[in-house]
Amino acid sequence: MLLNQERHDVVTYCQKLMTAGLTTGTGGNISIYDDESGYFAISPSGVDYAEMRPEDVVVCDLAGQVVDGRLKPSSEIGLHRIFYERRQDIKAVVHTHSTYATVLSTLREDLPASSYLIAYAGVNVRCADYASYGTEELAEKTFAAMTERHAALMANHGLVAGDMDIASAFAVAEQIEQCCKVYVKARSIGKPVLLSEEEMRRTEKRFRTSYGQK
Ligand SMILES: [Zn+2]
Repeated sequence: MLLNQERHDVVTYCQKLMTAGLTTGTGGNISIYDDESGYFAISPSGVDYAEMRPEDVVVCDLAGQVVDGRLKPSSEIGLHRIFYERRQDIKAVVHTHSTYATVLSTLREDLPASSYLIAYAGVNVRCADYASYGTEELAEKTFAAMTERHAALMANHGLVAGDMDIASAFAVAEQIEQCCKVYVKARSIGKPVLLSEEEMRRTEKRFRTSYGQK
């Protein structure tokens, strides 16, 4: 099976979306890029995560054409493809409709530097302008919002995270959702104190060079 490992990983991480509380039903999608073939494995459209099998995962090329698989790829294929086409530092993309990221994106607000953990994504997380789901316009706007970042909020929609591998991209999505949750709750009882851009840059550098297994 083409991209066998990547297909298994897409299933594993789609199921993790549910256990981590990052999505319900079939909301969100995941893809993993393979440098060697230039193909990526992406979750299929509308398949329940609990029932998804590796052969349901679709393999596509950078033009967005299906190379292997019997199902239709996620309707957000363009949102995944644009990062593999244009960013060398992104090899896996996680898109979710997680609650608190979506709450903030519904207000069309950026997530400011309210926690050092936001450095997983960058100095802050921008909210991309609105565009309809599944459109090239949505992919372009989200791509622009993610400049020098590893995550972006998507107006009235959700969150996207991208990184050098699926474990890292998933960690970014998980951390940013948690930071959105704390920020929204803090805002509800007062005015959050923000960290400086300098502190965020320093933290980001520590995360990206020495922290954990990276
Ligand atoms: Zn979506």
